[in-house]
Amino acid sequence: METFNHYINGTWEKPCSGKYFKTENPYTCEVWANVAQGNEKDVDKAVTAAKIAFENDWSELTATDRGKKLVSLASLIEKESKRLAEIEVKDNGKLIAEMEAQTKYLAEWYRYYGGLADKIEGSVLPSDKPGIFNYTKYEPLGVVGMITAWNSPLLLLAWKLAPALAAGNTAVIKPSEFTSASTLEFMKLIEEVGFPKGVVNCVTGFGVEVGQPLVEHKDVAKIAFTGSDVSGQKIYENAAKKIIPVSLELGGKSPNIVFEDADFDAAVMGVISGIFAATGQTCIAGSRLLVQKNIHDKFVEKLIKVAGDAKIGDPMSFNTHVGPVTTKPQFDKIMNYIEIAKTEGAECVLGGKPYTGSGSKGSRFIEPTIFKNVSNEMRIAQEEVFGPVLSIIAFEDEKEAIDIGNDIIFGLAAGVWTNNIGRALRVSDKLKAGTVWVNTYRAVSFMSPFGGYKRSGRGRESGQESIKEFLQVKSVWISQNTSVANPFIIR
Ligand code: NAD
Repeated sequence: METFNHYINGTWEKPCSGKYFKTENPYTCEVWANVAQGNEKDVDKAVTAAKIAFENDWSELTATDRGKKLVSLASLIEKESKRLAEIEVKDNGKLIAEMEAQTKYLAEWYRYYGGLADKIEGSVLPSDKPGIFNYTKYEPLGVVGMITAWNSPLLLLAWKLAPALAAGNTAVIKPSEFTSASTLEFMKLIEEVGFPKGVVNCVTGFGVEVGQPLVEHKDVAKIAFTGSDVSGQKIYENAAKKIIPVSLELGGKSPNIVFEDADFDAAVMGVISGIFAATGQTCIAGSRLLVQKNIHDKFVEKLIKVAGDAKIGDPMSFNTHVGPVTTKPQFDKIMNYIEIAKTEGAECVLGGKPYTGSGSKGSRFIEPTIFKNVSNEMRIAQEEVFGPVLSIIAFEDEKEAIDIGNDIIFGLAAGVWTNNIGRALRVSDKLKAGTVWVNTYRAVSFMSPFGGYKRSGRGRESGQESIKEFLQVKSVWISQNTSVANPFIIR
């Protein structure tokens, strides 16, 4: 049994409460580690350390040297990526194949923003006032609180930590109480690279006990959050009391739209990857399949065949396609939505129950589940399930596809499958989503901004857009005038 403490001011600190909570392996359902249960006192210690580091050691480094630290971190991540992947699988139950690819790819965020650190430029502005020299400069915000969800802890952290540090901020991280271990292991890499003490801190625990005090702490200058829209709203409200900026990466109910002219087999695989990869536990899940009526039956038949053949089992096996559900509350939520869908009159054509077959080990598996004859008003079409459950809605033409696609409170992502370039452009323009994929799905990059429209969030992560989320602009006026101005009128 391992024990994880908080990482505060460059040291491993026991929780002020003296309490620990258990973290379990979603596949074996066995407890494998104890994690420090933080409270507002631990948060205060971490924020104080981060504030001192922000005002001293971190700001005394040149932007180039800060960037070099991030680039060194990137190399270390690559070296340690296999180990990090194994910890992620042990803690969140995602497939080793996906986690190995993901932990290796993480390095790119740190390398990209490391390179960007010394390219943050202000401007010299023309002035309409004689004798005035006016320039702008971008400055960091201060201590950034980073709160992450359980589904991809290290990836979600990279999207925040890399640009925040590159911009000159310091960090206090609160990972999900369900999957804290990988973030704490990651702190060991921070230590090894030799970031000044207090630049990066991690306090573990529950949303109300650690997350909320972090949002409310007087010295936290910004919150970068990934999680549900319900928690996001609460955090937004609490941050508003201090008038601090917040970026929110929230949930989704993304339409994956298949037109009659699409490459049939590629679209089938795209739909499968959108909803059954990662056991559907991804914010960008293409959980609403909109399929054109004249190919509907043939398309659904093929989907049932491919999804039905998916191998369910041990996430550490490279042959597994669908792993366990990460948490017990999430398992209950998914099963509840399956019941709701049946009651609403949607037709279950695949799965619909827990998987108890070979390799299940009595774990929390749910069969890949497909509902057809779904109408867009049903809860199964409108609410985020965050599991391997696909709702299929048939549509007549382009206009109807767009109308149904947009008739939802979320706007995180959308997929479009067509070989007609005009249609690809028209539909991408009309869809109200932060990311639109045409003839692909579930692709992300450190170079491309990612974030939600509508209730899926605010702000963007990744790409050059993201670094601005961690900066504020200052306008400096220098007068070269020697005459004394009238103080009673605006200059
Ligand atoms: P959640 O909202 O329950 O928890 C997320 C984090 O917020 C956890 O660390 C939790 O402890 C903390 N938290 C909860 N209440 C809080 C409060 N009042 N104040 C401060 N912190 C609080 O979400 P979850 O179940 O961990 O994750 C699943 C959700 O995350 C889904 O909705 C999914 O779509 C979303 N998600 C979004 C993205 C994205 O990039 N848009 C990526 C991954 C997951």
